[in-house]
Amino acid sequence: MAKKFRNYINGKWVDALSGQTFENRNPANWDEVIGVFPKSSKEDVNDAVKSARKAFEAWRLTPAPKRGDILRKVGDLMVAKKEELSRQMTKEMGKVLAETRGDVQEGIDTAYYAGTEGRRLFGHTAPSELSNKFNMAIRVPIGVAGIVTPWNFPMAIPTWKIFPALLCGNTIVFKPASDTPATATSLVEILIEAGVPEGVVNIVHGGGGEVGNAIVGHPDVDLISFTGSTGVGKKISVMASETLKRVSLELGGKNAQIVMPDADMELALEGVLWGAFGTTGQRCTATSRLILHEKIHDEFVKMLVKRVENLKLGDGLKKGVDVGPCVNEDQRKTVQSYVEIGLEQGAKIVAGGEIPKDSNFKKGWFYRPTVFTNVKPEHRIAKEEIFGPVLSVLKAKSLDHAIQILNDTIYGLSSSLYTRDVNGAFRAIRDIKAGITYINAPTIGAEAHMPFGGVKQTGNGHREGGWAVYDFFSEWKTVYIDYSGGLQRAQIDNY
Ligand code: NAD
Repeated sequence: MAKKFRNYINGKWVDALSGQTFENRNPANWDEVIGVFPKSSKEDVNDAVKSARKAFEAWRLTPAPKRGDILRKVGDLMVAKKEELSRQMTKEMGKVLAETRGDVQEGIDTAYYAGTEGRRLFGHTAPSELSNKFNMAIRVPIGVAGIVTPWNFPMAIPTWKIFPALLCGNTIVFKPASDTPATATSLVEILIEAGVPEGVVNIVHGGGGEVGNAIVGHPDVDLISFTGSTGVGKKISVMASETLKRVSLELGGKNAQIVMPDADMELALEGVLWGAFGTTGQRCTATSRLILHEKIHDEFVKMLVKRVENLKLGDGLKKGVDVGPCVNEDQRKTVQSYVEIGLEQGAKIVAGGEIPKDSNFKKGWFYRPTVFTNVKPEHRIAKEEIFGPVLSVLKAKSLDHAIQILNDTIYGLSSSLYTRDVNGAFRAIRDIKAGITYINAPTIGAEAHMPFGGVKQTGNGHREGGWAVYDFFSEWKTVYIDYSGGLQRAQIDNY
């Protein structure tokens, strides 16, 4: 019998009011049911928002250092359960164990950062232009935060949002992706065990169109923190504007790695293998394009193909496996359709390009790591996010040309340059239009204490991670204290 999961609303585990459910299965072996989850609707969201609103009154008055203590405990519990959480995540969404351990570790790092932020949460003071007057700006909580997340970092991404939101004094209505509801439930269980009071965190499972929409449209939800595709992000932006909610959008990417002739070729090769095929290419920061200087193009492609053909595909729980399955059938279909589009537009497959045929792979959503050459900047596989194990190789004449190709997309999340030329590296840092640039490192590798996010249609200007995210989850309140005993008119009495 598959394990039955529930929503957590107002301090209680409850079924969806409709009684409906959905199943979640292991993408490496679809015979294995991970669990049965409530298929919630607007009414469940209403209950969750009501609960979060009620709990906000006490939570906002809980001292920030106390809220931080709870988050530190959350970090301790995650450390104790790291292996269990990582295995659950690999079973649920397929990426290999080393990577799910990294995903959990990112949550741990975020918990400890948030824990210490409880004793900072700094405001500002500034001198007044008038005598006997004191000016300061302090951070205050905002209210009920709607948290909507994708499946590719099912622990890290929710923690990037929920921990700073809680630390700032907000309460939560959380809708995880329906491909990773078990990992999300484990996170909520940890928050409860660490002492988060009743009603402060609520989780509502279900589909984006139903539950996600209901959260975004709810008049009593004050802010939305969303990570997912650019298409859905645009819809959320429009919908949330009706109630003028604060909205943070972390969206798609089409990240590129440039390799110059003076680079360390072996290092650049390790970088692109990890960047393109880690998490089966299903990372917002995955290397989807490789831009090679024409002088090294042929030699580098030869080295690359040899290594890609040796990548071991399989169940992410098994030792020695490099690449797991796609998360679900739709995602694999998307990958296959982009492979067809690439071929139709004149690109050439030099590795992979197919669903593996041997019986080991029969019950999972596997796809062979794929490399295209002869890709032109105008090809769809050079422009659109594929979100799978497909790498498009492009050729450039110079560093400036490579940067121009890199910038030629609607996205701007991550980017990478391999070179030993320090002048070229600094020019690239200046001219690449992306939220993140790596020099001599792959496009993936964010650290929890640094700002994370993108430019152009990758987002709407907010950042997660580090100190920057606290600006999103708190409101600035400006306070003037006049201790002169008389009416002092700024700009008038003093000038
Ligand atoms: P998705 O946009 O399909 O779904 C994301 C979440 O939104 C899910 O919980 C989904 O149920 C919900 N949702 C769907 N429709 C909705 C609606 N109309 N209203 C409200 N919520 C709705 O994305 P996905 O397939 O889960 O994740 C992959 C995408 O996420 C990729 O585009 C990837 O680049 C992006 N991503 C971005 C970042 C980043 O930080 N920039 C990080 C990870 C993933």
